[in-house]
Amino acid sequence: MFKAIYLTKNNDGLTEARVENLEESALPEFDEGGVLVKVDYSTINYKDGLAITGKSPVVRKFPMVPGIDLSGTVLESNHANWVKGDQVILNGWGVGESHWGGLAQLARVSGDWLTKKPANLTSKDAMSIGTAGYTAMLCVMALQKHEIAPNSGEILVTGASGGVGSFAVAILAALGYEVVASTGKLNEKEFLMGLGAKEVIDRKLLSDQGKPLQKERWAGVIDTVGSTTLANACASTKYGGVVTACGLAQGMDLPLTVAPFILRAVKLIGIDSVMADKKLREDAWKNLSEMSALPKINEIVKTVPLEKAIDMGCKILSGSIRGRILVDVNQ
Ligand code: NDP
Repeated sequence: MFKAIYLTKNNDGLTEARVENLEESALPEFDEGGVLVKVDYSTINYKDGLAITGKSPVVRKFPMVPGIDLSGTVLESNHANWVKGDQVILNGWGVGESHWGGLAQLARVSGDWLTKKPANLTSKDAMSIGTAGYTAMLCVMALQKHEIAPNSGEILVTGASGGVGSFAVAILAALGYEVVASTGKLNEKEFLMGLGAKEVIDRKLLSDQGKPLQKERWAGVIDTVGSTTLANACASTKYGGVVTACGLAQGMDLPLTVAPFILRAVKLIGIDSVMADKKLREDAWKNLSEMSALPKINEIVKTVPLEKAIDMGCKILSGSIRGRILVDVNQ
C-alpha cells in the first residue's frame, strides 16, 4: 500500500481531493519503458493548485494523482537507461495532468521522462529547487543565450515572492545581475533583498494597462504573471533587451502592441519546462547544482507532509504563499 493525493470528479463535475491508501497494482502500467520510483519529495506548484482545486482543467483524466514533479529512487525499471537504486528527478511531461504524478509515495512513470539527479544535490535539495527553480533557471539561461549579461543593466523579476520568482531573484543575484523584484507583498521586501534583489517595487506599478512604449529601463525580464504586467514589461524594456515569459498568475491575456518589437528590437522568449528537451533539462539541473545561491534554499522553502498538500494547493492560487512548498511524502 502507498499514500497518495487522489483526485476524483463528483456527479456535479467538481474535483474532489483526498489522501488515499492505494495498492501498488493501482499504478498505471506502461507497455514499455516504465519505471517504478519510490518518491522522496514532491512540491506544490501553481499548476498543482489548479489540479487539486479543479479551478482550471489541467487534469486530463480522473482519477488522478497530482504532482508535476518528484525526486526519488528507482525501485524497478523496464527502461534501458535506469536500474534499481538510481536517484532521479522528474519535472513536467504531463505528469500530474495526464499521468499519475509525484504527490504520492510511489510513482510509475516513463523512463524517458526521468533526469539523473546531480550527485552534489540531495533528493531534498532537488525538490526544494523543484519545477520552480528549474523553470527560473531556464529563464536565466534564455537571457544568457541572448547575451544579456550582468553588465547589460537591470533585470525585472515579476511575481518575485512566488516559487519561480524567488528562485529567479536568487539565481540572477548570485550570477551578479542587478535584480529589481516586483511584488504584491511589500511586507516581503526584506526577504527579497535577502535573496539579492537590489530594489523591490510594488507590482501595482506594472499591473494596469499602460502606454505601448514607456521609458526604457530593463535589460531583461523574467515574467511569471503575464497579462498587462508582461505588456508593460515589454513596453519598458531597453533597446535590444530580452523578455522571458513563463507564467500567467495575473492572466493568460497579453494586451500588447508590436511597438517594443519593431521599434526597440525587444525579444520576447517563451519558456516551457514541461516538454523541454532532455539536453536543456540536464544543462539546467547541472547549472542549478553548481549554484552558489543554493544555501539560500532554506529561506525560500517550507516543508509540509502529504496531508497538508491539499491545503497548500488551495493557498497557492490565492498568491499568499511565499517561496516554495516542499512536500515530504513520507513524513
Ligand atoms: P506562485 O503562486 O508561487 O507565484 C506566483 C506569484 O505571482 C505570486 O506569489 C504573486 O507574487 C504573483 N501574483 C499572483 N497573483 C497575481 C496577480 N493577480 N497579479 C500579479 N501578480 C500576481 O507560482 P509559481 O511560482 O509556481 O508559478 C508562477 C507562474 O509560472 C504560474 O503561472 C505557473 O503556472 C507558471 N509556471 C510555468 C512554467 C512553465 O513551464 N512555463 C513552470 C512553472 C510555473 P507577488 O505577490 O510577489 O507579486
